[in-house]
Amino acid sequence: MSRITAGIITVGDELTSGDRVDTNSTWLSQRLLELGVETAFHLALPDDRAAIAASLRESAGRVSVLLITGGLGPTEDDLTREALADALGESLMTDEAALRLLRSRFEKRGFEMPRRNLQQAQRPKSASMLSNPVGTAPGLAARLGAAPVYVLPGVPGEMRRMWADHVAPAVRELVNGSDRCHTAWIHSVSLAESKVGEIIEDLMRRGGPVVVGTLVSDYVVSVRVRAAGDGPDVEDLFVTAARTVAERLGVYAFGRDDDTLASVIVRRLKAQSATLVTAESCTGGLVGSMITDVPGASEVYLGGWVTYSNDFKAEFLDVAPETIAHHGAVSGLTADQMAVGALAQTGAAFALAITGVAGPEGGSAAKPVGTVFIALAFVDEDGEPSSFVRHFVFVGDREMVRRRAAITALAMLHFHLANDGMLPEMLGEFRPRVEAEA
Ligand code: ATP
Ligand code: MG
Repeated sequence: MSRITAGIITVGDELTSGDRVDTNSTWLSQRLLELGVETAFHLALPDDRAAIAASLRESAGRVSVLLITGGLGPTEDDLTREALADALGESLMTDEAALRLLRSRFEKRGFEMPRRNLQQAQRPKSASMLSNPVGTAPGLAARLGAAPVYVLPGVPGEMRRMWADHVAPAVRELVNGSDRCHTAWIHSVSLAESKVGEIIEDLMRRGGPVVVGTLVSDYVVSVRVRAAGDGPDVEDLFVTAARTVAERLGVYAFGRDDDTLASVIVRRLKAQSATLVTAESCTGGLVGSMITDVPGASEVYLGGWVTYSNDFKAEFLDVAPETIAHHGAVSGLTADQMAVGALAQTGAAFALAITGVAGPEGGSAAKPVGTVFIALAFVDEDGEPSSFVRHFVFVGDREMVRRRAAITALAMLHFHLANDGMLPEMLGEFRPRVEAEA
């Protein structure tokens, strides 16, 4: 059996000039992958009839299915329809049903159809029209050589609708009876990408039917395992490789595929019927925002404080004014008291607290920009409140320090929940509660 591959061509001067980011390709590739189809290439072209026709002809032989977006509109620079006809070696003809539909659309809205819109009812002879319930330009389906070709509108909303109505069902048909492309993501946190690369170095060597690569996004290092070859044992090799990656990353691997740190935490808290509160200073609510990004977070997340001023830390979280006076608002003891205070006020099972210097100002020799203290307070097995603090110095600008702090706070909670309260060696220095300021 062979594997189904797709090619995506996006058309528009605004894409090649950099005035607009091509989001259609990424969206389509994600949907294709969900159906087990790998994208062989993305190609962005200007509004140039000859260039589009040449690329269509050349690309069709390379993939099992070809998707094109953009250039279907009624204006002079919308040339994809003509280019498809050129590539097919056909002329354009008017599709009477499409014309009637177009006319009635304009009639319903109470004005006459501009002459230019006539071309939207045209199609190459062998092509068929794809209805567009959310816009005027119908799409086109044709066969170029062996490859089915789908031409979709450039407007993202219309493109997505036409994908769902027409293209996805057809691609699903194609995939049935073919080898699916297998992809798995394993996400890790608190390890540098180079370290992850070292741990799975042998698996990342190219040449076999399984391809392993890494991607970093928002301090999460994700390993992508992909079955790239054909053959009866490829699926087994793929499953084994994915399992090996997860095993080697051990406790640092927090999730698979669509998981995020926050979604994994929400899932674990739900399973334990436990609740969470947050007390944030330098992150200004980022942790709460990440948690509430997860649907269903309301079951476990009670809420939180953004206590930016010293007064708020004292007034709402019972941080002792002497603590701030002697140790500073950015200190392990302050973070600890914020977390303990939040826990005590709410009766939640867990409280995360963050205080730090995000910069660019406010750093000192003892506490440089990037200094962050993160505390986790929780109810221990004996029902007693307990807590610990960790001290980090993050590198980067204000935005990076804040995001890094929020992700690291989530990582601390995740490790605590997933690893029986044992924290692995994380980047940063461990400061036990009582010695926080020693
Ligand atoms: P219309 O009938 O609306 O003219 P069309 O098929 O001609 O549809 P385009 O004119 O190419 O589509 O683009 C319409 C809008 O969609 C423009 O605002 C354009 O910037 C946007 N668009 C086109 N292609 C993409 C893309 N690949 N990614 C994101 N936006 C896009
Ligand atoms: Mg247009």
